[in-house]
Amino acid sequence: MLNRIVDLLLPPVICLGCGEPRKIIMGAALCENCVQELEDMKLSENVCPNCLSPKTQNSSCDYCIEGGMLNLSAAYAPYHYHGIVQRLVVQLKFNSIEDAAKPLADAMYECVKGISFDAMVPVPLHARRLQDRGYNQAEVLAKLISQKNGIPVITALKRTKNTRRQSSISVVEKRSENVENAFSINADVKGKKILLVDDVRTTGSTARACAKVLIENGAYEVALLTGAVAPPRGDDKKWKLNFLDLFR
Ligand SMILES: [Zn+2]
Ligand SMILES: [Zn+2]
Repeated sequence: MLNRIVDLLLPPVICLGCGEPRKIIMGAALCENCVQELEDMKLSENVCPNCLSPKTQNSSCDYCIEGGMLNLSAAYAPYHYHGIVQRLVVQLKFNSIEDAAKPLADAMYECVKGISFDAMVPVPLHARRLQDRGYNQAEVLAKLISQKNGIPVITALKRTKNTRRQSSISVVEKRSENVENAFSINADVKGKKILLVDDVRTTGSTARACAKVLIENGAYEVALLTGAVAPPRGDDKKWKLNFLDLFR
């Protein structure tokens, strides 16, 4: 009886990362284990310094060679797209928006600390999907980062084509075709140094399509900031994209 009263008065706090009732510091979203796991997901030296794709040391980067960074001057991201990071991104797309966005946004902010940009531009959702979800997760991240670095968020892009979900398209080239010409300009970006913001970079075709439109409309430079980087392909099961992409 006493336990039940205690339970009612002090419901266990559920960790956003693992779903376990754990000891959590007041106001924090993640338990100690998940905070540690998040730390372990940090991108290491085993990535290409230009695009952040995982690669073996001393080998050239296929992603860069194949034009993965077309129209993009740099890539910034704190994490690998795996484990706790994947779970946070799922939460970000469903619910617990701010709670899930905060640990990602904090780490993203650190990645671009001290680098100057004129504006941050979130990768847009199509109006219909925006209406379904109620928010654009890329914009949520950008706004949280803006609170820390003061760089204005401009919704300079519009998604004009309601593209098929990327997960339903397996080949990289097909994915590029899918998002090509899916965006149009929505604000003046002439001469601006822009930081494009998204939750995850997978093949990068979305980012390239956005960067293309920004550059064509006079942007001085476009760099990309994402919460995580997923390898564009690979047979390694642990990297396999799953149901997540369904919610893009
Ligand atoms: Zn946890
Ligand atoms: Zn590279």
